[in-house]
Amino acid sequence: MGKGDPLRLLRQDLLDMPPYEPIEPIDVLAEQLGIAEESVIKLDGNENPYGPSPRIHDALARFPYYHIYPDPLQRQVRQALADFLGLEMEHIVVGSGCDELLDLIGRAVLCPGDGVVNAPPTFGIFPFVAKSYAARLIDVPRKEDYSLNLAAIAAAVREGAKLLFLCSPNNPTGNTVSREELERLLALDTLVVVDQAYVEFDGEGFASLVPNAANLIVLRTFSKWAGLAGLRAGYGIFPKAIAELILKIKMPYNMNVAAQAAILASLADVDTLRQRTQAIVAERERLFGMLTSLSWLRPWPSRANFILCEMKSSSKGSLAAREVWRRLQEKGIFVRHFDTPELRDCLRISIGKRDHSDRLLETLQEIGASVGY
Ligand SMILES: *Cc1c(COP(=O)(O)O)cnc(C)c1O
Repeated sequence: MGKGDPLRLLRQDLLDMPPYEPIEPIDVLAEQLGIAEESVIKLDGNENPYGPSPRIHDALARFPYYHIYPDPLQRQVRQALADFLGLEMEHIVVGSGCDELLDLIGRAVLCPGDGVVNAPPTFGIFPFVAKSYAARLIDVPRKEDYSLNLAAIAAAVREGAKLLFLCSPNNPTGNTVSREELERLLALDTLVVVDQAYVEFDGEGFASLVPNAANLIVLRTFSKWAGLAGLRAGYGIFPKAIAELILKIKMPYNMNVAAQAAILASLADVDTLRQRTQAIVAERERLFGMLTSLSWLRPWPSRANFILCEMKSSSKGSLAAREVWRRLQEKGIFVRHFDTPELRDCLRISIGKRDHSDRLLETLQEIGASVGY
């Protein structure tokens, strides 16, 4: 038996770090409410309401090599992605979700104390990665309209930052970085990571810029547009030398074969997946119009598969986002609630199917009416 408290051997900075707050899975939500899983309306995780390509089931059922380790160099799936993107496979690395690639980028780049620039409100995994490598997080808040503060980002990078995390379309605000803005940021002396988890819902894609930009990394995923969130399938487009390092430092078998088979089956069914993506975009626009009919809520225009809504204050009844969130939950409708310094009193609503939006709006109207709107 060892002497002393083994906890003193752990990294104190990690013991002190707040946990990333993930969303709850559907069975847990259903159990909390005492309702059937099928009647939960889950609009809190930006997941795809149509599920994956119908071809996935067959591809996974028939896959013959579950007993064999995957190819550490991921050649087949990287080549398929290269063909899909029109890029060379040397630029591409596949990960167990785009989250794993964010972690690998942190591992490849960050020593304790290195600067990382982040532009909140944005994806919570960025500060999580910075902190897990004991980096120095430099927050440069977005402007009132959630656009980037380019001058402040440039100033922060000039004081020394190895990484700049961007997200376009941005989670949770739904707006995008323009190509012109990105080009200005690429001129800075830092690696620029653009997380494009939602690009398929009509954001502008930047993957094609990577071969001509030495410091640009673009991350994409099958979680949102292709409905594979549960299988964990993401990929990054890197400058070749960086891709080589990521391949070297990742765990050899980071990508399980089921996820790889699912990626290949999805890429063989892109037309179906694109039709669904278009349906989600159309539903987003319809829901946006419906939400503007509520006098107490301000929806922000979105280029992703969710809509950020801010509570308006008024002289009538007042509704806090937290209260709306709680009352929606009582009706089996789950959305995401934010109340942070950069994002006061907001809800983020993922786009579901038509009847999900209808039930959501009905319930929001009831909630509004109950306080006099
Ligand atoms: C959902 C999301 C991801 C997650 O990607 P995975 O491939 O599921 O790990 C990454 N980035 C952003 C901004 C997201 O919202």
